[in-house]
Parts: sequence; C-alpha cells; structure tokens
Amino acid sequence: MKRKIVRIDDEKCTGCGLCVSPCAEGAIEIVNGKARVLREELCDGAGVCLNVCPAGALTIEEREAPAFDPVAAEKNLEAKRAQGASPRCLRCGADETRAVLLFARHRGESTWVCTRCLPVLIHG
Ligand code: SF4
Repeated sequence: MKRKIVRIDDEKCTGCGLCVSPCAEGAIEIVNGKARVLREELCDGAGVCLNVCPAGALTIEEREAPAFDPVAAEKNLEAKRAQGASPRCLRCGADETRAVLLFARHRGESTWVCTRCLPVLIHG
C-alpha cells in the first residue's frame, strides 16, 4: 500500500541518536552509526521525530510500504521496556505504564515529561 512513512537521508544523518527517544513507536534505532527504521510496519508516519533532527535528515514521504501495525509496535515497545530502554519522564522518572508522557524540548534537549510534572516545568 502507498502511505506516509519516515525517510532517513544517510548523507545527512550524523548518528547522534536524538530521534530514537521521540519515536513513540520505538521504530528508530542507531545501526552502524546511522539512524534506521527497524521495520517499516513500526513507523506510523506521524513525523514526531522530524523536528528533533539537527541535521535535517528526516522527512516524511509517501511511498509503498507495509501498513502501520499497532500490535507489532506495542510488542516492540514492550521489549524495549523489558530492557529498561523505554522513555521516562525527565523529572520523576515515570515510564508510560505509570503516567502519560509527552514529547518535549527542554534546555536544548529532546526529552519526555509526564503530565504531572509538566506544570512544574512550565510554572516552576
Ligand atoms: S536525529 Fe537526525 S542526525 Fe541524529 S540520528 Fe536521527 S536522523 Fe540521524
């Protein structure tokens, strides 16, 4: 099927890894120093990762790809959680099993914050 999906420009990618955590499906990993989509069915094409890339290596394109598979994405996230590699709130450390996490930029870093800690970060 033809659908929207992330495209990674190898020439521009520096392998910094900033795009890995913002991907809510855990679809991106760094392999041999470059960002890679683990499996195309894990990418929902939402493009949350685009704005965190300092090199402009990420774009969304429309092309032939397997349909997004939310069940496979959840299994992938479960595996990452089991390895302790799931996103956590920068302030309290809660993971998505304990809180709703929002992707955020904070002091120049791409990070996650839970809805309980967000007001504290905004208002001090
Ligand atoms: S944020 Fe951009 S430059 Fe960094 S690893 Fe991801 S695609 Fe590559």
